[in-house]
Amino acid sequence: MMETKSIKKSLFLIFFLIIFFSSCSSPSQSGSKEAPPAEPESQSQLMLGTSCRITLYDGITQSAFDKAFAAIATVEEHMSVNIPESEVSQINTKAGTGQAHSVSQQTFEVVQEALHIAALSDGAFDPTIGPLVSLWGIGSDDPKIPTEQQIAETLPLIDYQQVEIQESQTSISLPRSQMKLDLGGIAKGYAADEVRTKLAEEGVTSALINLGGNVLTMGTKPDGSLWKIGIQDPASERGDHVIILELEDMSVVTSGPYERYFTGPDGKRYHHILDPEDGYPVRRDITSATIVTASSFLADALSTAIYVMGMESGARLVETLEGVEALFIDADSTIYVTSGLEDQTIPNRLSNDSYSLTPVPEKAN
Ligand code: AMP
Ligand code: MG
Repeated sequence: MMETKSIKKSLFLIFFLIIFFSSCSSPSQSGSKEAPPAEPESQSQLMLGTSCRITLYDGITQSAFDKAFAAIATVEEHMSVNIPESEVSQINTKAGTGQAHSVSQQTFEVVQEALHIAALSDGAFDPTIGPLVSLWGIGSDDPKIPTEQQIAETLPLIDYQQVEIQESQTSISLPRSQMKLDLGGIAKGYAADEVRTKLAEEGVTSALINLGGNVLTMGTKPDGSLWKIGIQDPASERGDHVIILELEDMSVVTSGPYERYFTGPDGKRYHHILDPEDGYPVRRDITSATIVTASSFLADALSTAIYVMGMESGARLVETLEGVEALFIDADSTIYVTSGLEDQTIPNRLSNDSYSLTPVPEKAN
């Protein structure tokens, strides 16, 4: 009952970021011959509370960029809790009134998938986390440490099982006053997949989509080679990569405490991924969790989920899902990867000779 798949670890470093070091930022200089390859072109916009960067390697037109950013804007208009008229804000405003709010197909789809991942993760990922996010002031100008009593009063509002959805009307309602949906853990991934669809419609076959670290690779590079996505050691100030994933048509999404946090008056860091069990920022040995899979939508939700679940439970969940791989790093600066990454089902190569791999101890339960 513990067919724990081989997870490997390597001694290294503290938490990390995903960065590109593909030729994305250093287009090959040509200056030659008959048909110099088109240089990739990037455009960025601040959306979804982050920097969204799209790099096209073929099919480069302003129309492709415009449609891609318009797709992100639509997701934001529908799902941002910071926009009072958004569909999600309106669902939240109607909480406890008995009124369901009719939403777009896309908001409905994202809520459905969020509820699905909530069930899969046994509530570790919970899209009704909104009241706790507000209580902590995560992402606001005024984050604060709530009292234990405030947290105790808020916890009963966090329960994805209470969300009521009506498929025939694509309507959603929250039964208790003060309940709030927050799709911050999943919307960027959905948006990245939407961008891919729009770019494909515009004839793009080779592109990198990076929505605030939520990375989606489209196709391969124009010469047929794989994209190289580096996992970086932030301790080295954007220096060394601890591992390089070589991918095509794949999303890489990381969740970790370093992405967004504030320092309290007690000098401690309080980060943005909250444990629906106790209402506090997740306290885990792992300092980040990464999902690699084709759908950015799934990768985003699952990376948040497995960060909350922790490595053993998170890896067990990932093992049940076809085509999904995970990479964790723990507080001892040890990196663990699931077997698809390790055996190169998804190619990877180590970027540093000092890497050493040992199996993670198996854990019963
Ligand atoms: P991510 O960066 O994708 O891991 O998502 C983190 C964001 O998801 C936070 O900023 C919150 O908006 C939201 N969030 C925090 N904790 C949870 C949780 N336990 N389940 C679902 N969403 C969460
Ligand atoms: Mg996420």
